[in-house]
Amino acid sequence: MKTAIYPGSFDPITLGHLNIIKRAAVCFDRLIVCVMVNSEKNKGLFTPDERVELIRRVVAKLPNVEVEQSSGLLSDYARQKKACAVVKGLRAVSDYEKEVQMALINRKLNPRLDTMFMPSSAKYTYLSSSVVKEMAYYGADLTDFVPREIIKDVNQRMEDRRNA
Ligand code: ADP
Repeated sequence: MKTAIYPGSFDPITLGHLNIIKRAAVCFDRLIVCVMVNSEKNKGLFTPDERVELIRRVVAKLPNVEVEQSSGLLSDYARQKKACAVVKGLRAVSDYEKEVQMALINRKLNPRLDTMFMPSSAKYTYLSSSVVKEMAYYGADLTDFVPREIIKDVNQRMEDRRNA
């Protein structure tokens, strides 16, 4: 059984993330989408628990995809899950340098762990969770940015923030 991990902050999950999830799920027996609880990036729009819940709703129909969260090192988490690969989406050259460095560090820490890079689909190259938050803040239509199952949640949370 080949297990892969797709890590990220997913604050919130976008159509770009979902595109990578669907493509990676075809390549592996089991794909674990893992919300990484990063000490520096803790102040998100959604809490890690909420992000997990939103992603679960979006991937509900994908039978070999699971969603979890971890606050530890990715290499340890992968070992614990007996994963052989980390999946990463690459949008632009700017993603590349940081991601290759992370891939090399992860392999150093866990020699059985390799990283697979997937190029972003052309139509999602511009998309990031930050862009989604920016659009939501200004009340833009999110249909082309996030899965429809979570549009209401993003708009509602942004409205709560605006009124806070
Ligand atoms: P961001 O906050 O930049 O959207 P995350 O930390 O949640 O990103 O990203 C998790 C993973 O998903 C990373 O490998 C990132 O490169 C990838 N990713 C993010 N957005 C896209 C996209 N639009 N297309 C493909 N991959 C993406």
